[in-house]
Amino acid sequence: MENKSVSRRDALRLAGVAGLTAAAQLSSANAQTATPAASSSMPALPVNGSGFYRFKVGEYTVTVLSDGQSPPGNTFPNWGANPDRQPVYEAALRENFLDPSRFVNNFNPMIVDTGKNKVLMDTGRGGQNGQLLASLARAGYKAEDIDTVFLTHGHGDHIGGLTMGGQPTFPKAQLVMGEGEFQFWTTQATPNDAVKNNMIALKDRYKLIKPGADIVGGVTSLASFGHTANHLAVRVSSGTSTLTHFADAGGHYILSFRFPEHYLGFDTDKAQAVATRAKLFAEAADTRQMVVGYHFAWPAVGYVKRKDSAFEYVPAFFQLT
Ligand SMILES: [Zn+2]
Repeated sequence: MENKSVSRRDALRLAGVAGLTAAAQLSSANAQTATPAASSSMPALPVNGSGFYRFKVGEYTVTVLSDGQSPPGNTFPNWGANPDRQPVYEAALRENFLDPSRFVNNFNPMIVDTGKNKVLMDTGRGGQNGQLLASLARAGYKAEDIDTVFLTHGHGDHIGGLTMGGQPTFPKAQLVMGEGEFQFWTTQATPNDAVKNNMIALKDRYKLIKPGADIVGGVTSLASFGHTANHLAVRVSSGTSTLTHFADAGGHYILSFRFPEHYLGFDTDKAQAVATRAKLFAEAADTRQMVVGYHFAWPAVGYVKRKDSAFEYVPAFFQLT
């Protein structure tokens, strides 16, 4: 507990320094190029920088925030759990210049700023490794700015950043989660620490919704079961523009697209996860909408196209808004 409160102070100090640095960088960037304000009602925010990637979806401002990367580790088997297909997957990774024995995982929460609401989708890992607050500060937001936090599912790398030292990280936020997902995790006989600290301890702050229900106006939950039994993705719609954040229904950015049968070791219902991916990918390809994957390589923003009898993830090339 003592350690946790120290690390909270350190984290806040860090976030403050990062915010000042971001402000300094912004003013020097402004000297060179005019930074367009996202809308007349919002102060100008830094366009893009370390740990955050910002773009428009219709009238909304969307910012993917990095919670950091896990160090390279031999975790590949988890990402291609199909035991009989391991050599095929390893070859595909090598073909894409990825070393199967040195997989680096990414964690990519996202903020949707609709002008009316600032919705944070997932909170990263929290604790010593979590980088979300530093990225948030660089992106020009404070934790108190977030009025809604949506949790896609109950895994620790998605809910872990909801509290720091036992206190809510986002003091003004309404927490929103799928009803089935919340019930599943909070009724375990022996819930894990992440669930105890971030779900059970905060249960009165949660609003529980049905799959497909609005999180706020323009930001909707999307049934995408399989990774967990009640996993929900997020769909953002403004004007004629649509973006889907797959969360963990997106799987791996090479393997899950190229191999329709591919599942992750973490997928609870593997057949359902595979079917969900195929449906989400087909829809994204056919509508040419933008997609984000929680564990895709930073900044994890791109598109889906059909390739042969499967799909391919096409990272969005860097664009200035
Ligand atoms: Zn995850």
